[in-house]
This record gives sequence, structure tokens and C-alpha cells, in this order.
Amino acid sequence: KKYLEESLERKRLYNEVIELKGNIRVFCRCRPLSQEELSSGSSSVVEFDPAQESELRIICSDSSKKQFKFDHFFGPQDSQEAVFAKTSPVVTSVLDGFNVCIFAYGQTGTGKTFTMQGTHENRGVNYRTLEEVFRMTNERSTTLRYELFVSMLEVYNEKIRDLLVENSDQPQKKLEIKQTAEGTQEVPGLVEARVYSTDEVWAQLNVGSQNRAVGSTNANELSSRSHSLLRVTVRGENFVNGQKTKSYLWLVDLAGSERVGRTEVDGERLKESQFINKSLSALGDVIHALASKTSHIPYRNSKLTHLLQSSLGGDCKTLMFVQISPSSADVGETLCSLNFASRVRGIEHGPARKQA
Ligand code: ADP
Repeated sequence: KKYLEESLERKRLYNEVIELKGNIRVFCRCRPLSQEELSSGSSSVVEFDPAQESELRIICSDSSKKQFKFDHFFGPQDSQEAVFAKTSPVVTSVLDGFNVCIFAYGQTGTGKTFTMQGTHENRGVNYRTLEEVFRMTNERSTTLRYELFVSMLEVYNEKIRDLLVENSDQPQKKLEIKQTAEGTQEVPGLVEARVYSTDEVWAQLNVGSQNRAVGSTNANELSSRSHSLLRVTVRGENFVNGQKTKSYLWLVDLAGSERVGRTEVDGERLKESQFINKSLSALGDVIHALASKTSHIPYRNSKLTHLLQSSLGGDCKTLMFVQISPSSADVGETLCSLNFASRVRGIEHGPARKQA
């Protein structure tokens, strides 16, 4: 009975806290101006009214203003707690058997990793999510038994790399996406580590981060050129009615969305950026197709969307954080990210209304 009440309450919160418009949400988050930006005289081009929780305006280079509206806007002052408070209703649905994908999209340096991973003092969505998942599995333990597993992978140049294998500096067996008999997508051979606590998740994430850095001369550089995916598999069994569920929660730190000038890059960088463009636009196309309820969803156009096929669409919940920089120096990329996000959400934007 408690479980039923809880699940009704969650449903109510879900409808209330986040306006229910299908299963796709887009949140925008703007980081603060950095010390370097302040000392180099950059100003903020982002305007918002803290009372208006979903709108923002960008002052374009020609001084015109462009208005954007998302499911929520987080300004530079908004804490990790505030961000998670709006994220958690999506997260809890994974325990009810729904697949959930949370993405961070944006130019390198806009806070994708800060939002997802966070820092030790300022934990991000990944940690808080897992903490919440463990808390809820304990709370429901009188009727439900859950088993949790984590996998960590990276998609770089359309190749999948398992980040939880031992001796990851050895050449890896090629990982491929296979369709199961039930029509879902699997990656045979991918390590799934059973976890019993957030500490254990953290230990696995450290293994993954170390493996990620192996073989790259500049780990930061590489991390901005590849998509990093944390998958939490939740297996649930209700021992009152025997019902079993299996769902995935994907926490995805996407590769930097910045455009790379063709003249600035060597062959390798150009190839990387073509792969990134291809997969980010494939992701945009898939979410857009889902939001506009098109019948054909082009999942097969990239490894990323193919991998997430069974977790995007249908009953699945999708949340995208569009991360932006407030700096006047980045306004071009900021507008690109916001346009991408608006298209994904199926919202068209006109010029900003005149402000009094
Ligand atoms: P990305 O992953 O998009 O490349 P990072 O997460 O590495 O960006 O963020 C770039 C820098 O900005 C980091 O030093 C990070 O700590 C800081 N930062 C990002 N978002 C915020 C925020 N909301 N508040 C404070 N600092 C932030």
C-alpha cells in the first residue's frame, strides 16, 4: 500500500514539477563567468529573470536579443542541489521499470562534466542519482528486491570502448551492438559490475576514468572528443506479485559540440570532428523525430543513437541538459547550442519581445 501511495505521489510530482509534455525534457544551464573571462573583459550575454524559471535571452553580436524557452533554465547561481531537485523525478522512474537517458550537451568548457560528474565537494547528477536510486531501493525493500549493475563505455570515432575492463591498455575485443530476441539492443561482452553501494559505484567510476585516460597524451582533450556513457542496469523483482523488471539508466556526457574550423585542424582532428558532428546531429534528429511523433526514427545513423535505441522513445524518459557559456566571446557557439536544443524540443523561437 505504501508503495502504491508513493508511486502515485511520484506521478503527481512528476506531472507537477515538470510540466508533462511527452517524455522529453530539455533543461538549459549556464555556468558562471570564469576568472579568466572576467579579467579579459568578457561580459555576460545571458539575460534572465529569476522569477521566470524557463526563459532566457541572448544578446547577439549585433545587439539584437534572441529569446529561448526550455522546460527549465538554471542560471550561474543555481546549485547542484537545485539542479538535482528538478532531475530526480525522471530518475525515480527507472525504478518503476522505465528506461531513462540523461544527456549533457554543449561546447567544451560549458560545464557538461560539472553537471554530470561534478566535483568531490559539489557532486553532480551521476552521484546524486545513484544515491537516490540506492535510497529508494532500500525504502521499497519490503515489497521489491533490486539488483544494480554499472557499465561504463566511451564512443570515440564511432567505436565503442569498454572502460571497465582490466588491462585496458591491451587491445580490446571489438564491441558491437547486437539486437536481442526481444528487439532491444545489447553490447555482448560489455562489463557489468554488480554494485551494492554508492562507494562501490564510485570505485568503478574511478577505474573507468583511469582507463579513459590510458593511451591518450591529453586526457582532457580526449574526453571532450568522445562521448562518455555510464549505464546503470536496474533489475527489479516484486515478491508480492512476482513481476520482474529490467531497466536502464544512461548518464551521458557528450563530446564537445563546438564547430572546428577546417583550416585549423590536421587530418586526425578533422576526422574526429566529423564523427562528433555526425553523432550529435543523429542524436538531435532522433530526439526531434520522437518529440514530433514521426513514424520513422533514424536510430541507425550513429553508434550513439543505435546503442541507446531501446532507451529513447516509447515510454522512456529523456532529459537533455544544454550547457552554455555566458561569455560574449562564446556567443556564436551558445546560439548554435540553443538552436540545436530548441529544434530537439520541437520549439521554434522568434526574436525577443521588446523589454520595457
Ligand atoms: P565541459 O565538460 O563542458 O568541458 P567542465 O565541466 O569541465 O566543462 O567545466 C569547465 C569549468 O567550469 C570547470 O572548471 C568547472 O568546474 C566550471 N564550471 C562549470 N559549470 C559550473 C557551475 N555551474 N558553477 C561553477 N563552476 C562551473
